[in-house]
Amino acid sequence: MVYSHTKKAGRCGRFGARIGKRTKEDVNAIEDASKQMHECPKCGKKKVVRLEAGIWKCGGCKVKFAGGAYTSQVIKKI
Ligand SMILES: [Zn+2]
Repeated sequence: MVYSHTKKAGRCGRFGARIGKRTKEDVNAIEDASKQMHECPKCGKKKVVRLEAGIWKCGGCKVKFAGGAYTSQVIKKI
């Protein structure tokens, strides 16, 4: 069996020993949220992808809009 260097760290294995466990968990959660498809505010389809920080584009209706840095909607902190 091939030994996996990223079995525990997941996609954060690319950082190696440079960052700690807690930071890796945070980065994993943020990247999982930002890389999944989000719901479009115009057409309602779940086809919105992140182009860069704060810029989102819908694959269905091709609308491009500004949103949150890691999620398509700005989450208000109370
Ligand atoms: Zn759309």
